[in-house]
Amino acid sequence: MSDGNNHSNPFKIAQKQIQDCADILKLSRSTSDVLLHPMREFHVNFPVRMDDGTTKVFQGFRVQYNDAKGPTKGGIRFHPEETIDTVRALGAWMTWKCALLDLPLGGGKGGVICNPKELSNFELERISRGYIKAIGPFIGPDKDIPAPDVYTNPQIMAWMVDEYSSIVGKNQFGVITGKPLPLGGSPGRGDATARGGMYTLREAAKKVGLDLSKATVAIQGYGNAGCYAASLAESMFGSKIVAVCDSKGAVCCTNGICVPDVNAHKDKTSSVVACKGTEAMTNDELLALDVDVLVLAALESTITERNVDKVRAKIIVELANGPTTPEADEVLYKKGIHVIPDFLCNAGGVTVSYFEMVQNACMYYWEEKEIHEKLDRKMTRAYHEVFDTSEKYKINMRKAAYAVAVSRVVEAMKLRGWV
Ligand code: GLU
Repeated sequence: MSDGNNHSNPFKIAQKQIQDCADILKLSRSTSDVLLHPMREFHVNFPVRMDDGTTKVFQGFRVQYNDAKGPTKGGIRFHPEETIDTVRALGAWMTWKCALLDLPLGGGKGGVICNPKELSNFELERISRGYIKAIGPFIGPDKDIPAPDVYTNPQIMAWMVDEYSSIVGKNQFGVITGKPLPLGGSPGRGDATARGGMYTLREAAKKVGLDLSKATVAIQGYGNAGCYAASLAESMFGSKIVAVCDSKGAVCCTNGICVPDVNAHKDKTSSVVACKGTEAMTNDELLALDVDVLVLAALESTITERNVDKVRAKIIVELANGPTTPEADEVLYKKGIHVIPDFLCNAGGVTVSYFEMVQNACMYYWEEKEIHEKLDRKMTRAYHEVFDTSEKYKINMRKAAYAVAVSRVVEAMKLRGWV
């Protein structure tokens, strides 16, 4: 993750993207100054009782990047290499994501430095509760609403909502989204990120002239987003998944990977590596495969100057946040590769989170089918707004997404008299 170097520090990348957009939109210096900095951030150190009886201090962050358009919204990551700059970048990207989907929300993000793979379930619960106790005064259903992200899940959201409810002395389900269904979660939230990405892929394929029923797909990253992307690409379009990978390695099968087999293997061994009916390959080889669609569903800075020349896919589906660096972006654009940029492509998660907030507030829950239809409409509209802007200004899809989203945030800032 962030190492302080401008090329790989996600916040430096996020700031460069904002500056490029400010130039395209000809924003004033003061306006871009507001956009270039997080409005509020909290650094917390909180004690957690470990299973062996000792107490360990964990460090966490919550960044409320920009709330011009509404309460800040964004996930919480549990990661051993979490840094404040990563959280700042992700908070900025959430701001543009919510604006692009026209949600009445600002952007934020949280993170705790910890390695869930080395923690017991009880320790994970105590860390989740400790973090919420620490940031409790700064969040709320109309202030800042966290959700799941890397290495956090509905169970963790349930502990967090329970902790917050005991702090405020009443059930307060609307403070967090991505909850389990019995605790006010929304139907369709589980696969929302991947499903939203598939709706944008469907639209992109029409533009590029790609028949998805004959398309080959490689998937980098096999967590929540990547795993659902595999089954949805198959079930929605009949595409063939030819390679998948996780942090431990990649597997491929030119005749098509059996997705249920990979899922069962991953459940059993925590990895896709050595799944029956597949051959091993390296993660770098997967990125360089001659496939129609490359899904990036892991962490930030995956496609960089170092490997961008090798990418041969026709469409890149960015389900991860920040998987492509600005230098690599330029190269992909010149090569004519159609990139569906992260904060458009992966906005399905926060969009269904927003539906979850609405349902919590109304105490009335919708059918899954209704969620899918509403999500499809929002994703499809956002895709075409970005595509049309990219044609109009002759800029790549990411810059176009920035132009649409940042204009909306700036409009709200102006109306509020901030700039
Ligand atoms: N963590 C997801 C994202 O990066 C979802 C955030 C949310 O639902 O608030 O978009």
